[in-house]
Amino acid sequence: MSSKKKEKMYNFKMTPQRLAIIEYLKNNKEHPSALDVFKAISNRFPTISFATVYNTLEMLKNKGFIVELTVDPERKRFDPDLTPHHHMVCTKCGKVEDLFVDFSINIPENVKKSFEIERIHLDIYGTCGSCKKA
Ligand SMILES: [Zn+2]
Ligand SMILES: [Zn+2]
Repeated sequence: MSSKKKEKMYNFKMTPQRLAIIEYLKNNKEHPSALDVFKAISNRFPTISFATVYNTLEMLKNKGFIVELTVDPERKRFDPDLTPHHHMVCTKCGKVEDLFVDFSINIPENVKKSFEIERIHLDIYGTCGSCKKA
């Protein structure tokens, strides 16, 4: 996609740096933090500031192109995958893996009447495959 087309789609001024952030996030399964994104992008754009990366991520989040994960109280992590899914969080290494499973949660009718549910998201904590092996 051309930069102009992207600018229209994302509805903000597209700079090479912002474009690189969007490209980096595309199909990214790592649930990177702002610092992870900064490290990756500053390889290509050594002059980029952390604030630019952070602000771009906030903007993408506010516009609904990525979601912020709350699994790590130390640092925000971001997920570009907007399809409904849950997360398995490794308590040893902090890796976050996607889990595409439909859980049926029996929410009582009276609760549903008084509270309109937008999405249900589960964080499952445990030990990932590579930590289990180690
Ligand atoms: Zn792990
Ligand atoms: Zn995810």
